[in-house]
Amino acid sequence: MFGLYLHIPFCEKKCSYCDFYSIESLAHVDRFTDVLLQEIDLRRDQYSGAMATSVFFGGGTPSLLSPKAIGRINERLRETIHIGESAEWTMECNPGTVTLDRLEAYHATGINRLSFGVQSFTASELAFLDRIHDADQAEQAMVLARKAGFRNVNMDLMFAVPGQTIETLTHNLECMVALQPDHISAYSLIYEHGTPLYAKLKKGLVQPLPEEVDVEMYKLVIDTLRSAGYHQYEVSNFAKPGFECKHNLTYWHAANYLAYGPSAHGFVGTTRYWNKRSLTSWMQDVSNGTLPEANREELTPQDLLSEFLFLHLRADGIPLHDVQSKFNIDLRKHLHPNLQYWIDEGFINDANNVLSLTAEGYRVCDELTVKILGTRY
Ligand code: SF4
Repeated sequence: MFGLYLHIPFCEKKCSYCDFYSIESLAHVDRFTDVLLQEIDLRRDQYSGAMATSVFFGGGTPSLLSPKAIGRINERLRETIHIGESAEWTMECNPGTVTLDRLEAYHATGINRLSFGVQSFTASELAFLDRIHDADQAEQAMVLARKAGFRNVNMDLMFAVPGQTIETLTHNLECMVALQPDHISAYSLIYEHGTPLYAKLKKGLVQPLPEEVDVEMYKLVIDTLRSAGYHQYEVSNFAKPGFECKHNLTYWHAANYLAYGPSAHGFVGTTRYWNKRSLTSWMQDVSNGTLPEANREELTPQDLLSEFLFLHLRADGIPLHDVQSKFNIDLRKHLHPNLQYWIDEGFINDANNVLSLTAEGYRVCDELTVKILGTRY
């Protein structure tokens, strides 16, 4: 597995909870595409020759780039990197910014998966989150996506939003399932430092839902999506069989990915790098022929082991053979006797040499992670 991530740092309007880097001005959008092409060229030396299995346009709102711009980027990627025939090409879209013509044109450039930031079908929750779309636009976006030929569509859903109730979350889930996306990412609202939402929280202007309600909502999400035919393959991710996101699995399987664009994070070999956040600094560096990195770090064997265990556990399980061959560790032996207790309690499945979380286990994933990473190896 090998992925490519491109960060498109533009949004029509910032959502109050979002800490991804993006700006509301579209003044530099054309220049941005030219500079991104330059960064793809600059990073040629880091490319190992491996076949890429996924390309992911994230942001920000990639659907603010024209199909022509996306087409130019895709063409440059294909010229520079060996991208597999069956690669997944995802573009994140705001349901408020799509039209049939545009979606057809993106599809023609090779984009074959869309990810819509829907979040909710309840007007008061969408207003709270500062989303620019309404429930009708989210429904329409799915209709247009199918018409435009997309056979693989994700929708994001948010829960534990202040003001949300079990009834409104049930309504949101029903609306989403009725649209039959192939994949659903469901996240609990996080109060990220530095966001307007966090500032409101500190001033006492918003009241987070109590933790037990958050837990109850997560259970509702898991139970509803499972009974609707979506299987959970990561703490926050659910897919119809065969529609698991290849790009996210690249991250969760601790595989390599190259990243481009302001604030993007990449991982090559044992090195992690992250680009400068500011669009201006990033553009300046790339235009001068310099890698626009804010920093890079070399992961130690211990870091690599921790990441491997943590990421696999959250996703589709820890492959014991790989832990043995990569790190020379007999994990079953090291986790004894806790492992047997977790299996007996129904948190972990031990099958086919993979330790994976059960539905119950996903709910206590953080606690299990602390125990596993705290073990001496
Ligand atoms: S549209 Fe997406 S990236 Fe942009 S501010 Fe909202 S959540 Fe963040």
